[in-house]
Amino acid sequence: MTKIDFHTKGEQTKAIHAGEYPDPLTRASAPNLVMSTTFIADADANFSVENLEEENDGWIYTRWGNPTIHQLEEKLAVLEGAETALAFASGMAAITALLLHLLKSGDHAIISDVAYAALSEMTNEKIPELGIEITKVNTSDLEAIEKALRPNTKLIYVETPCNPLLRLTDIEAAANIAHKAGAFLAVDSTFATPAATKPLQLGADFVIHSLTKYLGGHGDALGGAILGNKETLSPLRKKTAIRLGGVISPFNAWLILRGLATFPLRMKTHEQNALKIASYLESHSKIKKVIYPGLPSHPQYELAKRQMKNFSGIISFQVENGKETAKQFSERLQIIHYAVSLGHHRSLIFYLNSEELLKTSFKFETDKQRQSWNAFAGQGIFRLSVGLEDADDLIADLEQALED
Ligand SMILES: *Cc1c(COP(=O)(O)O)cnc(C)c1O
Repeated sequence: MTKIDFHTKGEQTKAIHAGEYPDPLTRASAPNLVMSTTFIADADANFSVENLEEENDGWIYTRWGNPTIHQLEEKLAVLEGAETALAFASGMAAITALLLHLLKSGDHAIISDVAYAALSEMTNEKIPELGIEITKVNTSDLEAIEKALRPNTKLIYVETPCNPLLRLTDIEAAANIAHKAGAFLAVDSTFATPAATKPLQLGADFVIHSLTKYLGGHGDALGGAILGNKETLSPLRKKTAIRLGGVISPFNAWLILRGLATFPLRMKTHEQNALKIASYLESHSKIKKVIYPGLPSHPQYELAKRQMKNFSGIISFQVENGKETAKQFSERLQIIHYAVSLGHHRSLIFYLNSEELLKTSFKFETDKQRQSWNAFAGQGIFRLSVGLEDADDLIADLEQALED
């Protein structure tokens, strides 16, 4: 079969066909799951990854590259409109590889002050221990980013919408600020997904995804990815990723590859369901505040409309007594699972207590940062990841769980 350029095809065609090829030996139509850790080598094969020519220059050892993982990477790159993609064992493995590759002792990085908790915690502790300076700012506030710049700033790292507040960052503006200062912009686009936003087209240098969420979509495989240009990702693969070793299992790559076939279809339903449920929650007397980028009440609705082609499926909301309601949800919900994570076909809900999170994960330096947290989260928020069940069933489940 001749190789087709899927970049110009429709989203659903990309999701199904890009990156995949039939097995040359059996002509099997579905991609092969190749679990082999090693491959028969030529007598003159190189033993060091330093000499690896291209990622798919024959297969040597699965930590360096693997045909199933490669098909996943190719599909992700086409879906994101990126030159290339690098898959990892988890979103955190991708983030760690990016930080360790780009930053060295004496460098400075600006990181979203509210972001995925493990990234926040790592940049509070481990990364500064390596002699890398970190400033946490609310990256929705472009002036705050500019003020935090230093001559040694190498990286600006944003998450939009950010976990768990669903606050947005203007990617194009942040990219301009980064590039004027000679820094890279990395965007964790896990919540938005490529169905909503293509950060590389808006000027970002790197996109991060936790494949564990919407891209895999079924809650049964951890994975992560970095996407961007070959020029920067090739050395990242050779010098950092392969040596750190946080490689995705071919089995997980295969599961995620299979999940991706329905990715654009799933995102349409996630968004439709979330819009319905967000409006329902907004009209419920016990709900104090609902945050969803697709609601006109979102403080950055204009930016959401400009930057997100799909508002995705995550809703945050506040109630009067969060802890009590959390208990009620965990005991009474019948369809929605009371559990962490997001982006699965199953709906998931979890309560995030502000006091606890501000102790363990998010460290604010200014009153302005604290005020922004309070405006979005108050004493705590529920993060509802709206799944693919029928919206009416989800609403009925919430309704009975919210009763006195
Ligand atoms: C889940 C998540 C991560 C981490 O991904 P893992 O696959 O759990 O390691 C990173 N960023 C965001 C926004 C996430 O939601």
